[in-house]
Amino acid sequence: MSESPCLFCSVVRGEISATIVAETPECIAFRDINPQAPVHVLIIPREHIGSLNDATDAMTIGRLSLLAVEIARKEGIAESGYRTVINTNAAAGQTVFHVHLHLLGGRTLHWPPG
Ligand code: 5GP
Ligand code: ZN
Repeated sequence: MSESPCLFCSVVRGEISATIVAETPECIAFRDINPQAPVHVLIIPREHIGSLNDATDAMTIGRLSLLAVEIARKEGIAESGYRTVINTNAAAGQTVFHVHLHLLGGRTLHWPPG
């Protein structure tokens, strides 16, 4: 697993730079390099899990959401509102195959998404 060429595993190992906004023993959160909203943070487990389809542990996935709430509060968007999204596989536009939760906010987000 530590041999993985995965981009987000490289972030976890500190091999590529990222603007980190939160770290826990199990998760790391950093700003998206191509933000789609004033607040756009990616929250990932340190453990490599390719997509939500590969997840088996409820705690691992649940922690992503709870850390998103914490960050939304710190970023001042918890009350105005925000969106959390996990894109899974091609039709949803997943491009990095290390499961990640997008936290988006700081502007009005439209529905349905594209
Ligand atoms: P996906 O499309 O897989 O749901 O989301 C992948 C996200 O990772 C995209 O929003 C993309 O902008 C972001 N991303 C891709 N490469 C990097 C990188 O090297 N650093 C950071 N911080 N974000 C990245
Ligand atoms: Zn990975």
